[in-house]
Amino acid sequence: MTAFAPLPEFARGPDILEGGFVVTDLGGGVHGITQGMINTMFLVTGKGVVLVDAPPVLGDHLLSAIEEVTPKPVTHLIYSHAHADHIGAAHLLDRSGLKIIAHELTARFIKEAQDDRRPLPNETFGGTRKELSVDGVRFVLDYTGDWHQAGNLFIHLPEQKAMAAMDSFTVKNAPFFRLLLSAHVPAYFQAMDELLEYDFETIVTGHMSLYGTPEDVQTNREYLRDLRAAATEALRTVDLKQTAAAAVPESNRQAELKVWMDAVVAHAAELMPPWDKRLGGTDIFLADNLNAVAWSVFID
Ligand SMILES: [Zn+2]
Repeated sequence: MTAFAPLPEFARGPDILEGGFVVTDLGGGVHGITQGMINTMFLVTGKGVVLVDAPPVLGDHLLSAIEEVTPKPVTHLIYSHAHADHIGAAHLLDRSGLKIIAHELTARFIKEAQDDRRPLPNETFGGTRKELSVDGVRFVLDYTGDWHQAGNLFIHLPEQKAMAAMDSFTVKNAPFFRLLLSAHVPAYFQAMDELLEYDFETIVTGHMSLYGTPEDVQTNREYLRDLRAAATEALRTVDLKQTAAAAVPESNRQAELKVWMDAVVAHAAELMPPWDKRLGGTDIFLADNLNAVAWSVFID
């Protein structure tokens, strides 16, 4: 079994009891909610609550958390993207008069999934931008590219200087899995630049219990650039035929590719500068992230 380093103090959030949750005032009526693994946010307006996503691990806690802050009803639900781990508790909300807003591509994925937990949005938009005004609070929903999943949104509250970009990165931690399972790696890299063009102080990114700042976006971007530099150099120096010759029968081209890419990733990992003082979990998904980046450098 692989042994992992404990998460450094700076990469951990507040202690949360098993089955508990924490609500954080993020300023300007914006609140974050997390149970440790998943987070999201909501905004209290004059008449009600605008909720972003409805993660199933939060489930009923979502409503309890909102009740801790306000007795007002949830009037708007914005889907950041279609994935069930972020919106699979949407069915728990009272849907009489509830506006569910999403990009039309998100609606299409939900329709295809035929999942009762994810009710279809009743207000969709195509193209790249939709501006919403709810009780005088402005929301800018931007679809800039498939950095995580087609239809994924940047949700910007300009007056509150708050931002939601679910599954964009993991605050104070290396990205999960393969760049959080990005649908298109070049778009994922580009998303970090795009995020930094917005005026915000706080960003909610969907996982773990910490909320970020523009500096955290910059740190993730720097980490990604190191992954790409290491992968690029490893691709340049690790030879396919040489690597595969010893391990694979000549006729098995697929196995050659596998052995070669594993060697590329192993070499890239050696080339990575130390990051463990700046990000948590760098030892957990390093090979996965490098694999995603290396394939992208190779074919994109
Ligand atoms: Zn997702």
